[in-house]
Amino acid sequence: MITSTTGPQPADFADVRATNLAVVLRFVREHAPCSRADIAASTGLNKATVSSLVADLIDRRLVRETGLTENRVGRPATMLVLDGSPYAAIGVEINVDTVSAVAVDLAGERLLTWRRSFSAGDAVNQGVAAVGAVVRRVVGRMAKEERQVLGLAVAVPGLVDVQGTVRIAPGLGWRDADLGGDLAKALRDPGFPIQVDNDANLAALAEQRFGAHAGASDLVYLTGELGVGAGVILDGRLRKGGRGFSGEIGHVQLDPEGPRCHCGRRGCLEAMAGIAAVLRRDLSPAETQVEIEEVVRLARAGDAGTLATLDSVGRHLGQGVSLLASLLNPEVVILGGYYVPLAPWLLPAVHDELAGRVVAEEAGGCQVVASTLGHDAAALGGAARVLDSVDSGRLPGGLSRIP
Ligand SMILES: [Zn+2]
Repeated sequence: MITSTTGPQPADFADVRATNLAVVLRFVREHAPCSRADIAASTGLNKATVSSLVADLIDRRLVRETGLTENRVGRPATMLVLDGSPYAAIGVEINVDTVSAVAVDLAGERLLTWRRSFSAGDAVNQGVAAVGAVVRRVVGRMAKEERQVLGLAVAVPGLVDVQGTVRIAPGLGWRDADLGGDLAKALRDPGFPIQVDNDANLAALAEQRFGAHAGASDLVYLTGELGVGAGVILDGRLRKGGRGFSGEIGHVQLDPEGPRCHCGRRGCLEAMAGIAAVLRRDLSPAETQVEIEEVVRLARAGDAGTLATLDSVGRHLGQGVSLLASLLNPEVVILGGYYVPLAPWLLPAVHDELAGRVVAEEAGGCQVVASTLGHDAAALGGAARVLDSVDSGRLPGGLSRIP
């Protein structure tokens, strides 16, 4: 006998309430200061329901009343804004030789930005212990400020599957690492959710929430760290693919005769348009930073060799961006990491390639810009991921009015 589990199911009352709480919270986030009547008018929820939901959000200290009132016909309406002062969302980014940590409050205001030197060590547990130590200090700082941690999301430069297992992170020497589980143990089950994702994916979330193109529904973030990867947001949602491995554009082959890539193949985008192609050799991250500053100095001074290298790298980068533009038709492709300081010299060649390679007029409306979020974009994106969870209904406790 064949049974169907996809037919209509009776709605779960608690689920409906959680969904509605999230709807009201998102409305206040986007439209504050606003009144209960504004919420009812825009969401279609009736006024009594809105009053009850707002009371619950106030109990949870996610929303508060301001002293402001709005003058309307009839009695004045009390205005609402986000509260969230007792909460923190934490994002951490693991890089080859640094760990960055960012904490924000519910409204996205920055509470803390740290960067610490880091060594992945010879075994995963050494690296995890080092990351765990940084996270413990951040959590300690938030506890001192009497903030409850809503969650932690960790960005890793590598392939992370949909379960959050780090399948392969070449720069860290990690393979099949249950980073989230190991961190939970290192933090002695901290009582908040821990998520793990690819660095490009989380940086894309940071751009969607905090960047110069915040709110764009179709956006691609391209990392320009030691590797090149894409974080893809389509129709407003991060798209990770079936197993979580989407966005690996760094290993799309541009030239079979091209230079050898870290992956063992030849002529990958990463080998032709990554930072090693700008510097013409592999360097440690600390050396890379110094060398990039020197490249910028030479480019400003009009050094012909440097300008030719940046033009060539920009053309190859433009080939990669054209692939993204043709395949995904994003509103914007945002260049991150080391591409940011080099953008004035890379972008003209990128735009040329786009114009010549994308069939749609004006590259389908695709803009290419440098990120304004800096090297901590993926850490900030970790915090954004935690806020996304809250906005979609995973609310912290409080005095629930449901028995
Ligand atoms: Zn490759």
